[in-house]
Amino acid sequence: MGETHANMVEVLNELVPPLAARKPRYLMGVGMPRDILAAVRAGVDMFDCVLPTRNGRNGYAFTATCPLRLRNEQYKAQDEPLEAGCPCPTCRRFSRAYIRHLFLAGR
Ligand SMILES: [Zn+2]
Repeated sequence: MGETHANMVEVLNELVPPLAARKPRYLMGVGMPRDILAAVRAGVDMFDCVLPTRNGRNGYAFTATCPLRLRNEQYKAQDEPLEAGCPCPTCRRFSRAYIRHLFLAGR
């Protein structure tokens, strides 16, 4: 906690590979997408962190390019999906504006 991303990656790459791959490798308190991906690359299998749930509850959506804070006014009239070209059900069906509306309506 509190270390830089590069420092975290360095430590994970040193500590995780020697652990038995046939047993679960667990990491606690890491919840940002970039950090999760780096940990998976190092061999971590399971995570436990409040951050993804908290971010979702507060209207954050992480895209390939940047996080979106959907409660912001700038998304009020955006008809585009969260992530252009994403085949997931949310991106296929709902616009940023509609998801923002749901957050503001408390749905
Ligand atoms: Zn999507």
